[in-house]
Amino acid sequence: MSIKNGVLYIVATPIGNLGDISPRALETLSQVTLIAAEDTRHSRTLLRHFGVDARMLALHEHNEYQALEKVVDCLRQGNAVALISDAGTPAISDPGFALVRECHRQGITVSPIPGPSAAIAALSASGLATDSFVFEGFPSRNQGARRTQFQELGNETRTMLFYESSHRVQACLQDMADIFGVERPAVLARELTKLHETILHGTLGSLCEALQQDPMQSKGEFVLLVSGKPERQDEALGPEVERTLRILMQELPLKQAAALAARLTGEKKNRLYQHGLGLQAEK
Ligand code: SAM
Repeated sequence: MSIKNGVLYIVATPIGNLGDISPRALETLSQVTLIAAEDTRHSRTLLRHFGVDARMLALHEHNEYQALEKVVDCLRQGNAVALISDAGTPAISDPGFALVRECHRQGITVSPIPGPSAAIAALSASGLATDSFVFEGFPSRNQGARRTQFQELGNETRTMLFYESSHRVQACLQDMADIFGVERPAVLARELTKLHETILHGTLGSLCEALQQDPMQSKGEFVLLVSGKPERQDEALGPEVERTLRILMQELPLKQAAALAARLTGEKKNRLYQHGLGLQAEK
């Protein structure tokens, strides 16, 4: 591969396991004239590990607007530039959005070199519905604002994805349990791709308990995933519908059990699927 001059490359880097860097990411990083990085010291260590020695410029949340002018100048002079963050995909809860927007404004080509992103990695392994989801980034650090944010998501039917730090994960889960209900299926994806990778499945109530019982589970980096509100949550499934679903779930994967139960009972497939997730979480 040879990179193109005057292009900004958005390069994803590993979220833990260094083996997840892509060959195309390494080629790009070794060929560009300049690498804009969230933390140059951190990234230089990573790049050195891969034998990449490049000119670097710091672009982080405190200097993004000044730094982006330098990056745009470099691109306008016909150089190729890469943007990386500390881990994962730049501009996803990381610096980069303002630079990308400015490049589009100025007619500069922006090209992604895709790779790891904690949110998508967590969703793919969560077992929660993946057909439709909403990424909420970091909930507010302020408890009042955080609870308001969750209340506003009260009717959200899609799977909800959040990033959270170890300092707040317990408090955040407790607020979610208060607002979405202790029975809501949820997943805590911790330290993905690293030595202590753990994916806890359950309900918001059971996850709160798990963290209270084992403080180790609050250490590291997390993605929190919460199942969307089941449609017509207020009305219980009829006893025959529930019985049919339970029997089919003993024999079939949930998706197929819900589809077959929908055909047998006339109930909506998605509602049965969501209800099935709750039944699985009870086990
Ligand atoms: N841009 C990054 C991406 O694409 O994944 C996310 C950057 S954001 C500042 C960092 C947050 O991502 C962490 O606080 C945590 O919520 C999540 N995260 C990053 N690495 C993770 C990992 N290995 N396991 C679980 N969550 C992770």
